[in-house]
Amino acid sequence: MIPGTLRLRQPSVWQAALAQAISDPAELLEAVGLGPQLLPAARAAGNSFPLRVPRGFVARMTKGDPGDPLLRQVLPLDAECVAVHGYGRDPVGDLAAMVAPGVLHKYHGRVLLTATGACAVHCRYCFRRHYPYGQATAASGRWGDALAHISSDPAVSEVILSGGDPLMLPDWRLEELTQALQDLPQVRRLRIHTRLPVVLPERVDPGLLEWLVRTRLQKVMVVHANHPREIDASVRRAFAGIRDSGVTLLNQSVLLRGVNDDVATLAGLSETLFEAGVMPYYLHMLDRVQGAAHFAVDEAAAQALMAQLAAQLPGYLVPRLVREMPGADAKIPLAFGVGGGAAE
Ligand SMILES: *Cc1c(COP(=O)(O)O)cnc(C)c1O
Ligand code: SF4
Repeated sequence: MIPGTLRLRQPSVWQAALAQAISDPAELLEAVGLGPQLLPAARAAGNSFPLRVPRGFVARMTKGDPGDPLLRQVLPLDAECVAVHGYGRDPVGDLAAMVAPGVLHKYHGRVLLTATGACAVHCRYCFRRHYPYGQATAASGRWGDALAHISSDPAVSEVILSGGDPLMLPDWRLEELTQALQDLPQVRRLRIHTRLPVVLPERVDPGLLEWLVRTRLQKVMVVHANHPREIDASVRRAFAGIRDSGVTLLNQSVLLRGVNDDVATLAGLSETLFEAGVMPYYLHMLDRVQGAAHFAVDEAAAQALMAQLAAQLPGYLVPRLVREMPGADAKIPLAFGVGGGAAE
């Protein structure tokens, strides 16, 4: 391929859909049939971490409902501007675990690469909302340090692409990275943490699926949905394509007040995911990041929810309730249930 032809090529369908994502709070409120009452707050709170949401995700919201669980995840609110004690800028100690630009090595055998700082959606509860991605991504031709770190440790059998959202990278960049990873004999698994199949299912196009099929690595994709209504026909099609490419699909969610902090929603989420070929994996306690305190569910309430969920669902549909602790060897499971038995 002549480089010039690459540059002149039309953006792909997913890139065009991404470019049309809503970033103006007035436009979002209008699209969901809400008046301008929430607008000043949305503008103020959006200053430090701007609004961003693809139109396909907006289309799944219920019109006229300011409490819609999908809207709540993306609309900036006044509450974000309130400083709350105990909520900081790097709640999970990621910066301390960084061994090279964009390379987090916290847990045995698994190295996580923040391959890009970009996301298609800005989730208001995100623990990376204050993350200094400028210095902290392995992207932009800086795979070298990351690969050197991985190759120096024979125990690393799994590489996790995270971000931001790694599927924001164009196919050729993903290909370049997996080509290099495949040359490291100890690397057996490629894990991709992404919200794109849910918020921008257009991303799951033939080029992406071919990339997945091509690699010799075993593939695991951990998607991120918090509410059953996030999963519509377009998302189910995207999941099916990914599975047909030989990928094990798991889901992680965050337990969020006003979004999914009730048993019916959590049970519905697990059932909907399973029907779409995705296994529930983690339900995360909110990371205590500045600006997200209004999403917090306290530990006792979370444990009570889990006990009810476990009483309703087959065991394989009950996600593991975990909290991330700076400096711990793994994510910490929260015990629940009669007699305080372990979660696993
Ligand atoms: C969550 C996480 C992992 C993966 O942990 P698993 O328990 O294997 O899912 C790896 N590295 C970092 C930095 C993480 O936060
Ligand atoms: S990293 Fe994940 S949770 Fe955070 S804004 Fe991006 S998509 Fe949302």
